[in-house]
Amino acid sequence: MKEYICKACGFNNYPEEFWEDDNPMYIICPCCGCESGNEDYTIESAKEYRMEWIKKGTKWFDPSLKPNDWDFSSQLKKIPEEYI
Ligand SMILES: [Zn+2]
Repeated sequence: MKEYICKACGFNNYPEEFWEDDNPMYIICPCCGCESGNEDYTIESAKEYRMEWIKKGTKWFDPSLKPNDWDFSSQLKKIPEEYI
C-alpha cells in the first residue's frame, strides 16, 4: 500500500508516496520537513517531530508549495489515527 500522508503533519504529498508496504521512500515532506523512514520511523518519533515543528511555528520546508488557504488544523485531521 502506498502512503501519501505525512505521519508527522498530515500533508498529502500525492503523487509522491512517503511509504510503500512498510518501506520508507525517504521522501522529505514539503510541509513539515519530516523525512519518511527517519523522523517518522516510530509513532513516538513522529509525534516528537510534530511537537517540535509546532513549537517552531509550523514553518513549511518548501514555502513555495504552501497553498494560500493552507489550514493546519484541518490538515492535522488527516494524520493516521495511531500517529496522533
Ligand atoms: Zn509533514
